[in-house]
Amino acid sequence: MKPHRRSFLFSAAAAPLTPAHAQIEQAAAGYAHPRKVLLWESTRKEFRDLLENGTLRTVIVPTGSTEQHNEHLAMIHDTASVTLVAQKAALLHYPHVMVATPVSVGISPHWMDRKGTLTLKKETFLAVVFDICESLQTHGVKSILVLNGHGGNVAPLRAAVPDFARKLGIRIETNSYWDAYTPQIVKKYMASGKAPGHAAEFETSFAMAAFPQRIHWEGVDYEKVKPHLKIKDPKSAVQEEEFAREAKLASTAKGEAMIGIAVKWTAERLRQMMAAV
Ligand SMILES: [Zn+2]
Repeated sequence: MKPHRRSFLFSAAAAPLTPAHAQIEQAAAGYAHPRKVLLWESTRKEFRDLLENGTLRTVIVPTGSTEQHNEHLAMIHDTASVTLVAQKAALLHYPHVMVATPVSVGISPHWMDRKGTLTLKKETFLAVVFDICESLQTHGVKSILVLNGHGGNVAPLRAAVPDFARKLGIRIETNSYWDAYTPQIVKKYMASGKAPGHAAEFETSFAMAAFPQRIHWEGVDYEKVKPHLKIKDPKSAVQEEEFAREAKLASTAKGEAMIGIAVKWTAERLRQMMAAV
């Protein structure tokens, strides 16, 4: 897989960077294509044409996080990974599926003792997801897949999305992209026997295959860092070191295989949704 990379400098020259722009640009470094099927890179004319001639059948709303991913992975990982899976799956249905702007901060209070993590309160997060769905419904979109890439968002989305669908009177469903991974798949590809895990073998493999520029092993030393971390739960501190060790089992080939499986599974999910509308 050879992801095309969007030039950061190109858009920086066009407009001053706000934090929101910067976050999107960060996520953009691993896109499958710099523009195709991405709502926020499309013009209103392009979007309107697809809607009005009935070509656009479903929109994916990716939800991720900006949170600590141990010492070596960039904090945008969950947002970047789910957006990549969403885009690749949408491209398989081109031009019938688009990807809406990712929700790039999720529900991560459990990681707030690691500096850098941003978190939304559950109500705030769900309100943002709902408002994006409502915006799409207002424009005439009748089918939405909320595709998630962060563990802390799973239960709140599952509980709330059926209600979103009822309120808006359209089809809205939710999955995490790792719902694609059966125990057999995890066993076959992950030596640690774990996926998704956290910043361990799976996510590091994903990053190696999709955006290796977001992996930074330089200077990582779990012994030296201990006095700086102040992790409240000792079990969590031990697990973190375990994950860091397991991250060393990662490989580009594993990442490519796992991404391919998630993309195919998501594309099939979209096919079912489009058939049902
Ligand atoms: Zn993650």
